[in-house]
Amino acid sequence: MKAAVLTEWQRIELQEVPVPEIGEDECLIEVTYAGVCGSDVHIYKGHHPTAVTPVIPGHEFTGRVAKASTDLYPHLTAGTRVVAEPLISCGECAACLEGHVHVCRRLKLLGIHTDGGFAQYIKVPAAKVIPISDVLSDRAAALAEPFAVAFHVNRQAEVRHGDRVLVVGGGPIGMVVGIVAKQSGAAKVVFTELNEDRLAVIRSFGFEGVNPQTTDVNAYAEQATDGAGFDVVFEVSGSQPGLLSATKLCKIKGTVVLVGFPGRRPELEVMDIIFKELRVVGSRVYTLQDFKKTVRMLEELAVEGRYRLEALVSDTRSLEQLEEAIQTMIRGENTGKILIDYGLAQPE
Ligand SMILES: [Zn+2]
Ligand SMILES: [Zn+2]
Repeated sequence: MKAAVLTEWQRIELQEVPVPEIGEDECLIEVTYAGVCGSDVHIYKGHHPTAVTPVIPGHEFTGRVAKASTDLYPHLTAGTRVVAEPLISCGECAACLEGHVHVCRRLKLLGIHTDGGFAQYIKVPAAKVIPISDVLSDRAAALAEPFAVAFHVNRQAEVRHGDRVLVVGGGPIGMVVGIVAKQSGAAKVVFTELNEDRLAVIRSFGFEGVNPQTTDVNAYAEQATDGAGFDVVFEVSGSQPGLLSATKLCKIKGTVVLVGFPGRRPELEVMDIIFKELRVVGSRVYTLQDFKKTVRMLEELAVEGRYRLEALVSDTRSLEQLEEAIQTMIRGENTGKILIDYGLAQPE
């Protein structure tokens, strides 16, 4: 099969490799689409602390079941359209023993520590494979993983009906965080984002988008929240100005969720946290339950048609163009998600 192999940092080679052999608790998936993630860029550059080479990257993928034990997994017959939750937990550490397997001390991911979805086939533990309904297009299904991130982020925030929500950073993850916040009952979702093309997409989804380079965000927030500040602020940019604005624009007793990776020692306005009694929480990946619920939510969104989910995808590339796609993301030129297309998709 064809696979894009990260042979060493900053080098991806298209190789012919054997189709993975599966054990009885595994499922072989023929990939139809795979999303390129910010963390793939991180891995490519060699900046991920635990990533290994050589590896086939890619942890956001959708496809069809090619092979699985139908005695053990009768719902995974050949051809079934599926997505998969890509976490690999050790099952033995303190976090795993307490049932928090998604924050396992030795957490590994398909596509970072073992072979992932930038190949024609991927093998996945069968228990992690989730069938999808036909209401969901292949391209929308490829967004299940980032949506699961957003689903967990919103659960960490405990978003309530009527909340006014600020998303700092409107890249691909920020956009889905905002959509899930709205689905979770938020009355208003405001984005701050520097890239005007991204702001245009954000506004096309019916959200308010503010460019901090051209608009006084403090004044805007004041007016948007009747002077109270936002109930929930999602810091998705990972930038220093973003972090400082997150605590500043959050209301008294509000919640700030840290999602973006800000580098090693960012500055935080601790006095905001103390004086306003802010709840500042982290968010890491998702649970298997989150992932399953996310698929149902995406199916519901697809049926409602309230958001054109495919508009979150700004570019489509072939597997041969993966490295070029990563370079595009390094230059920050992509408006939304870049998908790798394996040329197998259903007609839409
Ligand atoms: Zn991802
Ligand atoms: Zn563990």
